[in-house]
Amino acid sequence: MTLSESSAGTARSALPFEAAIAALNAAGSVTIVCHVQPDADTVGSGLALALVLERRGIPVRVSFAEPAELPQSMRTLPGVWHLVPPADVPDQVDLLIAVDCGSAGRLGALAGRMDGAATTLVIDHHRSNTTFGDVNLVDPDAESTTAVIARLLEAWGEPLDAVVAHCLYAGLVTDTGSFRWVRPGTHALADRLLATGIDGPEIARTLLDTHPFAWLPMLSRVLGTARLEPAVRDGTGLVYVFVRRADETGVGSEEVESVIDIVRTTTEAGIAAVFKESRTVEDRWTVSLRSRDSGPGMCDGVDVAAVATALGGGGHRYAAGYTAYGDPEGIVAALLAVLG
Ligand code: MN
Repeated sequence: MTLSESSAGTARSALPFEAAIAALNAAGSVTIVCHVQPDADTVGSGLALALVLERRGIPVRVSFAEPAELPQSMRTLPGVWHLVPPADVPDQVDLLIAVDCGSAGRLGALAGRMDGAATTLVIDHHRSNTTFGDVNLVDPDAESTTAVIARLLEAWGEPLDAVVAHCLYAGLVTDTGSFRWVRPGTHALADRLLATGIDGPEIARTLLDTHPFAWLPMLSRVLGTARLEPAVRDGTGLVYVFVRRADETGVGSEEVESVIDIVRTTTEAGIAAVFKESRTVEDRWTVSLRSRDSGPGMCDGVDVAAVATALGGGGHRYAAGYTAYGDPEGIVAALLAVLG
């Protein structure tokens, strides 16, 4: 049984696997670019592909524009030796693959490398994907980009071994919120990955349940800024918090990214936002948005990808983000204006 057959009952979009495989087979070398502020899905996707290409004897490098260092929780992923600093990615490359990026902007300072590539392949699962590659392997129904890559490897006839499965599982367990946001076929894929002998509990613990002590006082300060706007979007409600630069002292990106998963559980709000102040640029904020599909007294789930897109970002229906500029009052007002 193939993976696509195992999710029968749900229409799967026909993806151009043949064109993607032709591009991979024709490549003399491959450059894989992950999105800025990388998560385990983009890094797991990049490293899984790199490990397969290494196995096939194809020169490969993986990079992301910022931050300068890989987040702590991802440093034990197999294949990290393929990571190179963005400055080491030449202007002219053969095949460039963007993984888990909804738009070229998500490549940050490496976006320009798209122009210097002989061929570009986009592998992604964001609904807002702009199909910015020569070949676009984009499945908005996929749980993670690593799930798309699992199907690509199957179509390519590349077997799953434990190191590749480790990377794919990293994206699957994190992007599904530890298997909360699942669909028919999700657990079948997890089963195939676990059958290679990988340590699923250890991978999840490393990626999701490991934080320095400084995380606890940081949460105390940040959650103390929480505000509830119950009238937003016809009573759906918005809850939001601020993570100021000073709050980020002593913690990593994993700790900052964990905040939205607490805030979004608020019963009285169908929409959650976290405003994260840039560590380097004055008045720049990264904004995470989440919505629930339904709830007591609420309308059907708000499409936060549409909200984020209206504010210059993008994402998934229930999880999206954008970049905002200005003071806290101004950026909240801008979000409220779009939400209505
Ligand atoms: Mn993803």
